[in-house]
Formats: sequence, structure tokens, C-alpha cells
Amino acid sequence: MPLLRVALPTPLRRLFDYLPAKGQRLPEPGVRVQVPFGNRQLIGLLIELVDESAIPVSKLKAARDYLDRQPLFEREHLDFLLWVAHYYHQPVGEVVQVALPNLLRQGQALHPPQQPRWQLTKAGEALDTSELKRAPRQAQLIELLKRRQTAPLQKEILAAGFNLSQLKTLEEKELVESFTLGRKTQGVGLPVLPVEEPPPKEVLAEIPLKLTDEQDEVLDKLLAGLGHFQPNLLLGVTGSGKTEVYLQLIQKVLERGQQALVLIPEIGLTPQTLGRFQKRFNRRVVALHSGLTDRERLNAWRAASEGKAAVVLGTRSAVFTPLPKLGVIIVDEEHDASFKQQDSVRYQARDLAVMRAKRAQVPVLLGSATPSLESLAHGLSRQYRLHHLKQRPEEHIEIPQPKLLDIRSRKLQGGFSEPLIKVISKHLEAGNQVLILLNRRGFAPVLMCTECGWIAGCQNCDARMTWHREPSKLHCHHCDTQQPLPPACPQCGHSELHPLGSGTERAEETLQERFPDIPIIRIDRDSVRGRTALQEKLDQIIHAKPGILLGTQMLAKGHHFPDVTLATVLDADHGLYSSDPRAMERTAQLLIQVAGRAGRAEKPGEVVIQTHHSDDPRLEKLCVDGYEALAKDLLEERRKTHWPPYAYLAIWRAEAPKTQAVEELMQVLAQEARASLQTNPEPVTLLGPVPAPMERRQGRYHMQLLFHAEKRAPLHRLIARLLPWLETAPEARKARWSLDIDPDDLF
Ligand code: ADP
Ligand code: ZN
Ligand code: ZN
Repeated sequence: MPLLRVALPTPLRRLFDYLPAKGQRLPEPGVRVQVPFGNRQLIGLLIELVDESAIPVSKLKAARDYLDRQPLFEREHLDFLLWVAHYYHQPVGEVVQVALPNLLRQGQALHPPQQPRWQLTKAGEALDTSELKRAPRQAQLIELLKRRQTAPLQKEILAAGFNLSQLKTLEEKELVESFTLGRKTQGVGLPVLPVEEPPPKEVLAEIPLKLTDEQDEVLDKLLAGLGHFQPNLLLGVTGSGKTEVYLQLIQKVLERGQQALVLIPEIGLTPQTLGRFQKRFNRRVVALHSGLTDRERLNAWRAASEGKAAVVLGTRSAVFTPLPKLGVIIVDEEHDASFKQQDSVRYQARDLAVMRAKRAQVPVLLGSATPSLESLAHGLSRQYRLHHLKQRPEEHIEIPQPKLLDIRSRKLQGGFSEPLIKVISKHLEAGNQVLILLNRRGFAPVLMCTECGWIAGCQNCDARMTWHREPSKLHCHHCDTQQPLPPACPQCGHSELHPLGSGTERAEETLQERFPDIPIIRIDRDSVRGRTALQEKLDQIIHAKPGILLGTQMLAKGHHFPDVTLATVLDADHGLYSSDPRAMERTAQLLIQVAGRAGRAEKPGEVVIQTHHSDDPRLEKLCVDGYEALAKDLLEERRKTHWPPYAYLAIWRAEAPKTQAVEELMQVLAQEARASLQTNPEPVTLLGPVPAPMERRQGRYHMQLLFHAEKRAPLHRLIARLLPWLETAPEARKARWSLDIDPDDLF
């Protein structure tokens, strides 16, 4: 007898065998099944049918039900999900959870249930309603149905003031009957709803831009790659027309009758972006992102998985969307940190995009003005084909070279030096917009007592509380703890507490004082809340001329601000001397992204960066020679220090309310790993266990153990040997642990 092998949403890294459900046809892999698990019912995904189980058949339980008639995933896609679970050493069931829209996870049907309609039976049609004198509402209901040409929906009948019990009574008298249209039409001789119209022949809905020679050359090379696997990296300065190249590449993919998957950063998926794609094509373009309702998300997912949506524009988890006719994958702003998931299955969507393209034998295009060092290394070593767009289409527009403004011995007011204020005035007086980046929200990052030096700290974290003024509170950005401001120093009673440093609120206050007549639009997580807030702010910006746009990195990403002529960074130093090995890469990306906001239309731009370290050779290199030159230097450093992309990392993290539980778990794990390396030598180095850079966070202690290897395979072999041991180790029950393969940061 065939058995069902099922992936279930449990933390156990294995599949589970069940007997088939009684009295039902055997399902195909890719179908959801409902199964008993302990004393619960779980919804899992059938991965394969097998003939044997390691568990005696007499001990196996039977599945309760199958939730789909057709598989949700084709075999090829199931294998991709299995590969993801294998590579990240995560339970297949957890990967399936990430890949499924919420409603499917909860067991809802793929297709929305059909609304019932009501019509008269033969007897109902023949009825003389005066026979229903005793039940006037029933008589009126019959009259209503007689008047209607087509059978009304049940909800229309209810909306007209009738109730269900009236319908049921008439149904019992066999005067009315209900039915649904669509898949399960009962054959009552009603017109079948029109099926989806065939797509219009012409793919294009508008005439595309005429490409520049540079764009044309890149597009040609990309088009030559259609139909087989080829990874490409497009390094194109901001505004160089990368999106236009994507659009024209997608056009050809759609003309071949295929689908395109476009991944974009979380913040980049605005109605603007979506609109640009929808305007171009006479084909269905759907968005998949966290701002959708569950129902919207399911609808988009279904359209994609049934091949009806030609273009899927989505954030990181869209990389799992089934696409039966996949023709190309594009990852825009491929360096963006939001492509890495930081909990449950810690996957990197950009890497998965490449792997998925390889399995599907389609080209993949990673695009960025500031590519990740990983992708750039692949480009330089020719594993990826590297393309450049060095100019903006409107050729007379120079991309401004950033200028460093040293503030070492200058007095700052709300984060601004006097020379910077002067530059800002100049641009405002010319009627232009100024963009100011300060990657810190709140009023001030530190609140201090001037008398005794007390600093407001978080009781749950090794962190300072940020002072917010609107509304007034102390707020820990790591655990979300919020407290009222103390009226006096809790340590010495002194009544003067002083803010140190500035966040966006304080910068805004300073700007208001200095430029009282200029509109200031602040964009950060405090001022932009809700689904439409960002778009509303972006709309305001268009009319603010002159105007100031002030914000965190939310501002620096992807939006076009044609009237900005000055882009400035208040504090470039965060990250210059950080212990995080990726900090300089991230700083450089942010600076260049901000610089790219200046002078995008007909106006020449200026970029000014405030720093205490204007003599830092890396900053200088970035400003003078550009991102790629600096990135090459950083890569050389990484090569010398044997760090990714020239080595491979995995981090085990553990946390618990008690230090001891965390320490014990990490110690036995390290011991077990070292013992394993003794018996099965592998070129893997262990670093730690050590306390996490922020040891206490959210009231819990955090430790980590880093594995480092020059080759991928030995690292993964060691991890695979340790996991079964760890899953049963008693110490692992007292602390929470997680495993991060190819970690993005070391925190
Ligand atoms: P990127 O994605 O690299 O930031 P976009 O594709 O958004 O660049 O292009 C930047 C601006 O240049 C847009 O306003 C776009 O309409 C315009 N543009 C792009 N390609 C061309 C072209 N070939 N001719 C004229 N304008 C172009
Ligand atoms: Zn004090
Ligand atoms: Zn905290």
C-alpha cells in the first residue's frame, strides 16, 4: 500500500509518514493534507508517495483529508523547496510555511468558495402567491425571484431584507432551490459564467523608450541568454535606466509566452513601481508583499501559480511563488538587506533567485548601483556576466561627486554644521529641494544627566533608550520598551537631563528654526505609519518646492525625486569603525544611494557628506573613484582575512532568560562540534562560543558560536552531523537556538 510522506509545520527536521485517507482517491504530491499529530490536527504538504516506512505500518495513523484536488506545487518546485530546506538545514515543513500564503497555510481553499444563488423550482414558478397569505414575507420572496431575470446571489436576497430561515422554509416546501456557478455547476441550464478571456495578442501597452547605446548593448547580451541559465550582474549608477532594461527584457519574455519574476526590496514596492510595470504591458502584473491582505495575497499567488499573471513583482518571499512558465528572474537593488530573512528560515532571496533560475534553466539578472560584495566578486571572477551602465540617459546630467565635509572641530546644532546650513540655504533659495539623510529616528539617541553622568538605559537590553519627543517617551529600539521621561535624574535627583546626539526629530526641529518658511517632510518609521502613509508623503514631496526631505534610509531607496539638487548625509561615521565586518560595505551603499538622489532631472546636483573622518582612505576612495573601486578594495581585504565571499560562515545562536542555560547549551554544542572534528576531521574552524555583541536583548541572554570554513561542503557536512544530536540534547530544551547559514551580520 502506498504511504504519504508529509512535510509538517514542526521544528523537527524530518518528514512524517501517514496511511492514505480512507475512501478517497490517492492524491498527488504537492497537495495539502490534514493529518492527526499528537492530539492536534495539522495541515501539511504531501511531498511524495512511498512504499515503505521506517515505522511499522500498524503504528501509522491515517490522513484525515486532502485539501486540494490539484497539486499546489509541481514536482520541480517541490524539489526546489526540498533543496532550500536541505541547504539552510531547516525543516521542510517550515520552508513550506514560508512558501505558502497565509490562507492556504490555514487550510482555506485555493479558489474562493462560490456564492450560492437561489432560483424558483417548477412548483415555485407555477405557484400563485396568494396561497402564501399567511406568510407574506415568503410570498414577497417568491415575487422577487419571479421578477428577476437571473438567479440572485444569496447575499443580494439577504441585503433585500429577507433572512435565511425564509429561504430554508421555501426550500423545504420545494418552491426554491440553491445552486452555485462555476466549477460545480449543477447543470440547471443557466448560462455558465464567461471563462477568462484569452490575453490580447500585443504584449506592449505603450511604446517603450528608445534605449541608449549602453542600454542597448546590455539588453542584447541579456536577450541572447534567454532560454538557458545565465547569471548576470548589472552595475548601473542610479538613474542609468536599469528599470527600462528590465522592462524591455521582460517584454521579450512575455512575447515568448513566459512569466517574469521581479524581486524588489520591501521599501521599493510602491504603487509608483507597480504602476510603471502595469502601464507597460497588456498582461496581468501582480504584486506580492506584506502590505496585502491575506485574501489579496492569495489571489495574486493563485494568478501567478496558474500562469495567469505574466509578471510577479514581489518582496523576498515571492521567490517561492510557483510559476509554471518562468522565463526570467530579476532582483532589483540586489544588495538590499531586506532580501535576507532574519528569523525562522533564514534564507537569502537573492541567492535563492540564482539557484531557482539554475534549476529552471532561465537567466537571472541582479541589478544595483551598489552591488553586494558577494555578487560583485562573482561578476569579477566571471561566474556572473558583469554589465555596466555608467551614464544617465540624459547625457548632459553629470552624476555628482560626493564632497566630504569635516566636522571634527565644528559645533553642531541638531546635527548640522554651519557650512552645511549655508549649502542648504543656497539650494533652497534657488527654489530646489534638499534631501537630508539621518539614519536615526527619535529626538536624541542618548539622554544623560549633566551632573552625575547617568544615562537612560533599557532594563531589558544592553542598550540606551532613545528619547522621542512626539509623543514624549523613552523608547528602546531593540525590544520596543517604552517609558515616560523621568522628571529628574533617577541616580542623583538632579533635574537637568540633556540629550546627546540627534535623531530625525531633533534635526527637523533645527531645520524649522533655521528655515521657518520652508516645508519639511520627514520620512521615518515614526512619521510614516500605515499602508498608504509613505505614498502620501511621497505625493506631498512633489509640491514642496523649495522643500526639505528629511529621513532615515527609507528615503534613500529607489524613489525618484526630480527636484532634489542637494543630497546630504548628516553622519557618515556610523559603520566606519564598527566591529561588524559588513559595516563599511553597508555605509558605502547607503552613501552612494543617497548621492544618487541628487540631480536626477535637468538640474545639476551636489552631494555633501558630514564626517569626523574626512581623511579616512576608504571614504575618500568612495567619493573620488566610486563604489566599484572601493568595493574591489574591500574584496581584497576580505580575501586576505579569509572572510566571505572567500570563505563560508554559519552562526549558531542561543538565547534564554538565564545566562546559565545559554552557556550550557553553547558549551556542549562547541564540545560536540570539536569532538566531531576529532573523529571526522574537516577544515572547519570554530570561533566561540562568545556572548552576542548585544548580550542582553529583550530580557534574554544571547550567545553565539561561529563556524568558519574555506569551502562550503565541509561546513555543511559538520552541521548535518551536529543537528540530529542537538535536536535530542537535553540542554537544547532549556534555551532557544537557531542556525544561520551565510549570515548577513554577526549580531
Ligand atoms: P534606474 O532603474 O537605473 O534607477 P530608470 O530605469 O528608473 O533607472 O531610469 C531613470 C530615468 O531615466 C527614468 O525617468 C527613465 O524614464 C529615464 N530613462 C531610462 N532609460 C531611458 C532612455 N533610454 N531614454 C530616455 N530616458 C530614459
Ligand atoms: Zn544624575
Ligand atoms: Zn530594550
